[in-house]
Amino acid sequence: MGILTEGELAPLTFEEIQQYKEFLKTHGIQQFCRHYNKIKDKNYETLKWGDEIEMMMIRLDDEKKSAPLVCKAKDIIGPLTEAENLNPGNTDTAWRPEMTEWMIESSPGRPYGGNIDHFNTVEANMKIRRDELMSYFNDDKERILSLSTYPRLGCRDVFYPPMENKVEENDATRSYCIPDEVLNQTHIRFRKLAEMMTKRKGRKLFRNAPIFRDTNTPNPFIDPDVPKDSPEDIEVMKPNHVHLDSVCNGLGCGCLQTTFQACNVEEARTLYDQQTVLAPIVMALSASSPCIKGYLLETDTRWENISGLCDDRRADELGEVPLIDKTRRRLYKSRYGSVDMYLSEENDKYNDIDIIYRDEHLKILLDEGIDQQLARHIAHLFTRDPLAVYKHMLEDQEMDHFELFNSTNWQTVRFKPPPPGANMGWRVEMRPIESQLTDFENAAFTCFVVLLTRVCLSYELNLAIPMSKVEKNMERASKRDAARQEKFFFRTNLGPEETESRNEEMTMNEIINGGTTFPGLLNVIQFYLSHLDIDADTRCTISQYLKLISARASGEVLTTASWMRKFIRSHPKYKFDSVVSEEINYDLMKMCTEITSGNVQCPDLFTPDLMSKSCRYVPEKNKKMLEEVEKITKNLNGRQTSFF
Ligand code: ADP
Ligand code: MG
Ligand code: MG
Ligand code: MG
Ligand code: MG
Repeated sequence: MGILTEGELAPLTFEEIQQYKEFLKTHGIQQFCRHYNKIKDKNYETLKWGDEIEMMMIRLDDEKKSAPLVCKAKDIIGPLTEAENLNPGNTDTAWRPEMTEWMIESSPGRPYGGNIDHFNTVEANMKIRRDELMSYFNDDKERILSLSTYPRLGCRDVFYPPMENKVEENDATRSYCIPDEVLNQTHIRFRKLAEMMTKRKGRKLFRNAPIFRDTNTPNPFIDPDVPKDSPEDIEVMKPNHVHLDSVCNGLGCGCLQTTFQACNVEEARTLYDQQTVLAPIVMALSASSPCIKGYLLETDTRWENISGLCDDRRADELGEVPLIDKTRRRLYKSRYGSVDMYLSEENDKYNDIDIIYRDEHLKILLDEGIDQQLARHIAHLFTRDPLAVYKHMLEDQEMDHFELFNSTNWQTVRFKPPPPGANMGWRVEMRPIESQLTDFENAAFTCFVVLLTRVCLSYELNLAIPMSKVEKNMERASKRDAARQEKFFFRTNLGPEETESRNEEMTMNEIINGGTTFPGLLNVIQFYLSHLDIDADTRCTISQYLKLISARASGEVLTTASWMRKFIRSHPKYKFDSVVSEEINYDLMKMCTEITSGNVQCPDLFTPDLMSKSCRYVPEKNKKMLEEVEKITKNLNGRQTSFF
């Protein structure tokens, strides 16, 4: 291996990081305080937003009936980013390196703004991104998929060009299933993340993913790929679970993220809270990860797999042994995990989960005038250790030390301060959504989240319920077929005059489309839209997206995960033993590429009727619901409503 330094960037070793980490923590917190106090009263141009989609490159080999992941980001990331580097903010697309060589992240070149007709651009821009990436392919077998989890990720022979996995050469992960060679080859940060988490944990990272029990699945199922001579794996593997041991099994998964700029810090804190509640809901609705390492799982999302594989806590932090020194804390979650607390003052009363931090960190923040609630959030970020640190960072940088921690706390929602010197405000990033196969579906999820957050802000609706219930929703959201089978806690009184949150367990259909006591989020959105001045074209665009979300929630169409599971289980070669063979995977991947390109229609996922821009969204049965919505928003009637 080689080629790992980006120009002058010299990364610190694990031992050096240990030496400097306390300094980096104290400075990171001080940097936040200084920056915050400088900008806290500043107002920014309101609503800007954008999406990110991680693309995966695969190759369809029709003779061998295989569909390996193509590892070539290193060959194309340079040319792909050139235009943006020359002309920042003036390109249609923006490209970012990702964890592994088969992935590249894409975004619109400029964020969208407060014009509602930007909804007409989202899907088209996603298509431009696909076409642009495709233009760098010279092998006609290569395809782009926006998958969340590659079904055979972790099996032998799933990479192109083929590579052998030599465990003894996997310095960063020590994985028996994925060679370190697939870690991003041009940006050392990614390799460092893998190496530092492994070193910090003091053993290999791992995740035991529950296998889906089919009629012929061995009972107990003992993962046959785990080497018999690897005590480290044998010690932690569990019967009836698929044993994963590379961070690439986690961070090598893709997703759809949306980022929103708020007009000031207060609005950002409100936005953060609303998105925190929505996180498990949209995750379940977008589920698209029913398998990994060639097995069907009992879960449908990537979330718990990544969470496990980024869990770098040590035994004392896990509560298995007493804490080793005064800098350590008992930590209840992986650094890749759900949000722990609400940030807006009105929701502090729903913060019923223990927030872990160090008193000396909290004190720095409080002494600098940061309020208790925000101080606890920031201090909590600093219970984690820094991962990829470069030598030049040891000098005082404006916000770099803070970012070192903020950017490696991978929570469902991220609170992002304005970068110093840039013309950018407070941003909130929604991170749990699983990517969908088509631009149409990805655009639908994006627009749904954008609209819902606008509705909450415009009508001052509050979705907050006790945080412990959001946590329960997260646990349920990953389960197999959660969108149809699970119930989720959801607030029933959303209106601004409501003081005490009431919530009920509801089905996804009730939450999205409305039930006996709840009007349904889509109806609230409809109500909002009916008060906006929107041109017919945009109205039609939005209506097709909302129809899709509605149909996914009602079960009229399947989630991507349920469709994939159905495809696999009805494949003639499937033996009902939970195994997703190379040939089944090839057929599935091939079908996915056909659906993505629109060559094949898949009515299980969306019917042609759903995709048509027909503007016929509001069905009769929802008329009554709209009256319900009028009730919640009645005190706002007559108030000017605008999109931004
Ligand atoms: P990260 O990987 O940390 O999320 P990226 O730069 O990859 O950061 O992604 C930024 C996302 O934020 C993109 O979706 C982009 O369109 C969006 N974005 C860029 N500028 C703004 C802004 N001023 N306000 C809101 N979103 C923005
Ligand atoms: Mg990004
Ligand atoms: Mg990414
Ligand atoms: Mg992002
Ligand atoms: Mg990122």
